Amino acid sequence: MIRKKMYIDGEWVEARSGAVRQSINPCDGQPIAEVPEGGREDAQAAIAAARRAFDHDGWPQTPAAERGAMLYKLSELIVRDKEELAQLETLDTGKTLEESRWDMDDIAGIFRYFAGLADKDGGEVIDSPIPDSTSTVIREPVGVCGQISPWNYPLLQASWKMAPALAAGCTIVMKPSEITPLTTIKVTELAEEAGYPKGVVNLVLGPGASVGDELSSNHDVDLISFTGGIVTGKKIIQAASTNVKKIALELGGKNPNIIFADADFDTAVDYALNGVFFHAGQICSAGARVMVEDPIYDKFVAALKARMEKIVVGKWTDEKTQMGPLISAQHLAKVKGYVEIGQQEGAKLLLGGNLPEDPELRNGYFYMPTLFADCTNDMRIVQEEVFGPVITVERFSTEDEAVERANSTVYGLSAGFWTRDPDRIQRVSRALRFGTVWVNDFNVYFVQAPWGGYKQSGMGRELGRIGLEEYTEVKHIYQNHKTQALNWFGA
Ligand code: NAD
Repeated sequence: MIRKKMYIDGEWVEARSGAVRQSINPCDGQPIAEVPEGGREDAQAAIAAARRAFDHDGWPQTPAAERGAMLYKLSELIVRDKEELAQLETLDTGKTLEESRWDMDDIAGIFRYFAGLADKDGGEVIDSPIPDSTSTVIREPVGVCGQISPWNYPLLQASWKMAPALAAGCTIVMKPSEITPLTTIKVTELAEEAGYPKGVVNLVLGPGASVGDELSSNHDVDLISFTGGIVTGKKIIQAASTNVKKIALELGGKNPNIIFADADFDTAVDYALNGVFFHAGQICSAGARVMVEDPIYDKFVAALKARMEKIVVGKWTDEKTQMGPLISAQHLAKVKGYVEIGQQEGAKLLLGGNLPEDPELRNGYFYMPTLFADCTNDMRIVQEEVFGPVITVERFSTEDEAVERANSTVYGLSAGFWTRDPDRIQRVSRALRFGTVWVNDFNVYFVQAPWGGYKQSGMGRELGRIGLEEYTEVKHIYQNHKTQALNWFGA
């Protein structure tokens, strides 16, 4: 069994309470690793170390080019250890090894991108309206950052936070999901190898209710960046309000994938699958809400069902596997519960809604690809985030109806649509109220483009230039070159 520690102020340590937690293999329910289960006092120690490194040890004053060079080094170490990282990610999450390898390529690219950006902003001289003065606007690191990541893309989500924060000159306390800590521990080991000074990078393992809440509420933390569910996000806003710390939130999504009748039919069917079944639908941007225009509705649903029947569900150790398990017994119960709700609401269950037949898989948290047709806008199964291998399909008749219904959600993370009509492409891509809109594609993202949600899908953006700016404060420096007494109050 893998045995790891957490990293506070340059030391690998156990939890102060001595508590430990086992990490569970979602393919068979067996323990794979044992790690410290940190608590509030561990989080406080890490925050104090990050505070000292920021306020007294000179990290923010390090030349930006040097910070960029360290991030380049870290990205090279990730490339060097890609296979080990991919195996750890797969072990912890159950996703196929190929998916984890893609993730690791992305992650190395994220560190490389922010390495390159680190020294590109030299500030801006602005035109001062006052004679004989100079006005400069500069960006400075925001300070100590608490960072909380989810279990679905453990290291990918952590890297979206770590790389820009370190590029900007912040110090960090990272808390990965307690269910999937292994790759974030490994990348912290690589950060140590890359040479980050004591206290700049800290890793605290443990539950959200204690460690996560401490990071969100502690007054020595200047910014809290969180990726996870909406309910937790709202708690974080409340906890963070006590010292008005900066808040960055990437929350859930219920993402429409709209198929117009003039779409490239076969490709749209293919992407309806790609939009959902990677990592068993546990993707914040899963296109789980498929909307199909009336003339092609029946043909589309039939084609989707035929393709879904062929998806091979199994353990990642089997080469034929295309889709792995859900993350935990608790999450499996949640997905099952939603499928029951869908049936009670009158959605037509065309496929799935069950566990795999293979008794070998019954020890893990596998669930079969599930298809509901004839869904309506008001159904909970359509409106709420299921986060599993479940597609709902709705029928629509006009463009206006499709857009209005797609927008009628509290979420606003991403949406996609399929059409060959250039005018419609312009109209619909502007009418959809989502942070990302894909035209004739789905689930594409890259580090150069910002990522984040409208409405309750979040606050702020990660990735891209704006992803770096989130970790900065803006300062205006005004200098008078010819100071003279004003004598307003008499000489
Ligand atoms: P979650 O909200 O249960 O947990 C996320 C993290 O928050 C974990 O590290 C957890 O320990 C911590 N946490 C829990 N309670 C906390 C509290 N009171 N205070 C502080 N931290 C706390 O989410 P999850 O189940 O791990 O992840 C799935 C969710 O994440 C989905 O809703 C998904 O859509 C969302 N997600 C969003 C994006 C995005 O980019 N928008 C990306 C990935 C996942």
